[in-house]
Amino acid sequence: MDFSLTEKQKMIQKTTREFAEKYIAPITEESDQKQELNQDVFEKMKEMNFFGTCIPKEYGGAGLHDDTLSFCIITEEIGRVDASWSITTGVHCSVVASPIYRFGTEEQKQKFLIPLAKGEKLGTFALTEANAGSDAGGVQLSAVLDGDEWILNGSKIFNTNGGIAKILLVVAKTGEESARKALTIFIVDTVTPGYSVGVKEDKLGVRASNTSELVFQDVRVPQENILGKIGDGFRLALKILDFGRISIAAQCVGLGQASLEAAVKYANEREQFGQKIGRFQGIQWKITDMACAVESGRLLTYKAAYMCDKGLDYGLASSMAKLVASEAAMQAAHDACQIHGGYGLMKAYPVERYFRDAKMGEIYEGTSEIQRLVIANHLLRKGF
Ligand SMILES: Cc1cc2nc3c(=O)[nH]c(=O)nc-3n(C[C@H](O)[C@H](O)[C@H](O)COP(=O)(O)OP(=O)(O)OC[C@H]3O[C@@H](n4cnc5c(N)ncnc54)[C@H](O)[C@@H]3O)c2cc1C
Repeated sequence: MDFSLTEKQKMIQKTTREFAEKYIAPITEESDQKQELNQDVFEKMKEMNFFGTCIPKEYGGAGLHDDTLSFCIITEEIGRVDASWSITTGVHCSVVASPIYRFGTEEQKQKFLIPLAKGEKLGTFALTEANAGSDAGGVQLSAVLDGDEWILNGSKIFNTNGGIAKILLVVAKTGEESARKALTIFIVDTVTPGYSVGVKEDKLGVRASNTSELVFQDVRVPQENILGKIGDGFRLALKILDFGRISIAAQCVGLGQASLEAAVKYANEREQFGQKIGRFQGIQWKITDMACAVESGRLLTYKAAYMCDKGLDYGLASSMAKLVASEAAMQAAHDACQIHGGYGLMKAYPVERYFRDAKMGEIYEGTSEIQRLVIANHLLRKGF
């Protein structure tokens, strides 16, 4: 077993870290307060091809479609500096652009994938509804066939990139059968009449990332915009989320790493009782637990990426990675705040933001409870 990164992966890691520290870090606090992403950074990220990471060069991407580990490294490095940016690019790449590349027709790739990969248009994956969260099968947004077009009616909530996205993957109900056969995924261009953005959420964490409601009132979508097949949306959504969870795990590894680094730095600076607090065993044990948790999350994330690239069934691995990495990020952020004492709550240090941002990993694309269900179901039904 070889744990080393290739020279190319090391270069990607170095370049992304330098980029994130130079361009994202200086405006992270401002973006968090304003609750919006910086447009200059957006343009620079386009130049770096971060929006086309998982897409082949022929469609305007960076050509890392068969190197998910590199995608993880990029996402991790961005997440180490700003979780709002890593959720933005992570969602765009993993659950919008990549599915169109993997499951779309050539016509869909030419029309939708190229602008997504070049970062000319941002994407969102719209699954959650007011009464369909963990239970994705409960989707009620309806799509009814009228001639060659489907008419969409309903709304979606909590969509990452929702208010700024130009291309949507929308999970809709097209039949009355059981959930497994009743759902279909549509690619929707936001210029389509009847589509509008609803409430923009005011969130605890990842505040600069846009989380919005999407409203569909008689939105007509052509037949050729169906991703995959009619009635195959539930199965496809689960596959899309399998890949998306690797991305979230990588975001959380980056965020956990940031907390760990901040805690170590502070423990080596702050003095109480005549010595650095890092010399107290109580602080050392926290740092050890943080480091072990973050590294466990990283190893599981890289393993899931490896399995994905080898063409193996990686659903179990991605759920484990997401569960462990997100809980590690939350624990690390909690401990980093504790190590900072009162300053852990103050804006003067970044750990209060890490603490707020970390919560997202345990919730979206399947809560920790749902990951535990997925993992247990897999083990009980399919074995090891
Ligand atoms: C920052 C952020 C970004 C998001 N981005 C997107 C996005 O881009 N696209 C999108 O479609 N959605 C998005 N979501 C929605 C997210 O995926 C859902 O919030 C999540 O799946 C949980 O659904 P819910 O909020 O309805 O909670 P519920 O499903 O109502 O769950 C409430 C509680 O019950 C628990 N629970 C539910 N069922 C079970 C069970 N069977 N066993 C044990 N416990 C259970 C849950 O774990 C949770 O603790 C986002 C959410 C957030 C916070």
